[in-house]
Amino acid sequence: MTLMESSGILALVNPSSHPAPSPAPPKAGPTLAAAQAAGFPMGGENLAIDLADTLVTVTTPPTDLIADQPASDRFWALHGDVLPAGWAPPAGAATRRLRDAVRVLLDAAQQGAALESAALETVNATSALARVSVNIAMKNGVAERREHWHHADPADLALASAARSTIDVLTDPALRSNLRRCASPTCSMLFVTGDARRRWCTPNICGNRDRVARHYRRRRQD
Ligand SMILES: [Zn+2]
Repeated sequence: MTLMESSGILALVNPSSHPAPSPAPPKAGPTLAAAQAAGFPMGGENLAIDLADTLVTVTTPPTDLIADQPASDRFWALHGDVLPAGWAPPAGAATRRLRDAVRVLLDAAQQGAALESAALETVNATSALARVSVNIAMKNGVAERREHWHHADPADLALASAARSTIDVLTDPALRSNLRRCASPTCSMLFVTGDARRRWCTPNICGNRDRVARHYRRRRQD
């Protein structure tokens, strides 16, 4: 996850005499195992991608993994570590409205298609729900970058964070060019990978299904 590094550290020491401390790692999202334990087959990606993956588009009609408030709440709780302090779970309907826009945009980006303006407006309006000011503070002689989120409603923090995450994925060349869709024809999960060999969303679902299919094809040929 690359979202919301709230304490990236800038070293003020001379780099030639002291090794600069590494930047603070971005806050981690849920592990895939935690996501799957909460009922989501996919997880551990950028917040926007995890949100998009709550709509399974290969079924007719699409399968909504956050169709009710408890499921929506579960999604946000799972991502609590990457949300700004003080966040609260938004209404399911607002979450799904943003998710639908994010899904349309990420699908288009993954296919190299034009980004739909109505979906972009939804993301921009959602991002504007909470504003961030950035300042610098000294901690143990090291200058720290701090972000302060300003909002009217704590639920807006979660939505605005997901909107910003979407903007990151769509505008960061590395993220956008590495956005992939699972190679399984019966799966619509999106993920980011720099590994050209990775074809499946998850090794334990689609990767395994592929291994099983290949195994049976080989046996049929024997
Ligand atoms: Zn898959």
